[in-house]
Amino acid sequence: MAENRRSPLLELTGVSSYYGPVRALEDVSLVVYQGEIVTLIGANGAGKSTLLMTLFGIPRAFKGSIVFADTDITHLPTHSIAPLGLALVPEGRRIFPGMTVSENMELGRAALGKRSRVANTDYLYDLFPILKERRQQKAGTLSGGEQQMLAIARALMGQPRLLLLDEPSLGLAPMVVKKIFALIRSIVQSGTTVFLVEQNANQALQLADRGYVLVNGLVRLTGTGQELLANPEVRQAYLGKVTSEG
Ligand code: ATP
Repeated sequence: MAENRRSPLLELTGVSSYYGPVRALEDVSLVVYQGEIVTLIGANGAGKSTLLMTLFGIPRAFKGSIVFADTDITHLPTHSIAPLGLALVPEGRRIFPGMTVSENMELGRAALGKRSRVANTDYLYDLFPILKERRQQKAGTLSGGEQQMLAIARALMGQPRLLLLDEPSLGLAPMVVKKIFALIRSIVQSGTTVFLVEQNANQALQLADRGYVLVNGLVRLTGTGQELLANPEVRQAYLGKVTSEG
């Protein structure tokens, strides 16, 4: 994908954001081109979730600019940002356990806003056949991996241009993570760009076209997935590998 660069879909330039007096992001610049999988990796508390939430103005970027699909969204009200085509699958999935699978999916339809009234349910049930099988089942009875699929499917109901995933691998067995990551690849192949926030650096970098490493709210490194996988600092800090360069 990287060689087939199109226009930036999302571009952050010099973004800083704060929780009260505490700076969570400092001068963050990054770009996601249409059709890419871009990953943001970093340790606990590095500011990864904050970066996602800052896109929606919670917290509001104190400095810098955020442009999505040629629209400056830096100062837009939160409720008008998702309808532009940005969908977030939050950490912890936040599905409604007492509602059925199909009811949970229907909630994602609201994000379509004025863009379209035609939901892509058939495509989603093809992509996630297990959800079709279980569509009348209460979401709370699904396994962790199935709940993650449901959270992703719900976000895709809004037909976003950019899907933001916050730690989709969290708490899932390695085989299930593999499956979720394979699904992410299919989603991108179907035309949705993906920005993947992960602590699971190894798998995220293997999947991604490009990546950014966030340390204490600062972008410390960037490169292709392969470059970052080979980077001694990344290997030592995030992949648990000791390098000969020390
Ligand atoms: P994790 O993987 O643990 O979610 P993260 O990289 O997503 O980590 P954030 O959750 O963005 O990190 O947190 C970045 C910093 O901001 C941390 O120091 C955290 O304690 C702080 N922080 C996060 N949310 C709030 C909040 N609502 N109020 C105050 N400080 C916060």
